[in-house]
Amino acid sequence: MSDDFPQNLLNSISHQIVCSKCEAEFLAGLTDSASLQSYSQLDVGFTDIGLQVWCRRHDGNVAHIDFDGNTLQTDFRCLEKK
Ligand SMILES: [Zn+2]
Repeated sequence: MSDDFPQNLLNSISHQIVCSKCEAEFLAGLTDSASLQSYSQLDVGFTDIGLQVWCRRHDGNVAHIDFDGNTLQTDFRCLEKK
């Protein structure tokens, strides 16, 4: 990987955001999914106040982050490692 590759575009997720209902069902062995990530059906998108994570499986809110009127820097580039 070149030294000029923007490191902030690598996967740097340290704490997954999960639906608590999906997590409970997965941990109880109620699914055939190999992982909680593959079981979850999460939508992520901007709202009038910030960014929301929504569980399609349970049709419910997982997280709604209020930007409190702030405009945050966002990088939408999807670069592939060489
Ligand atoms: Zn769910």
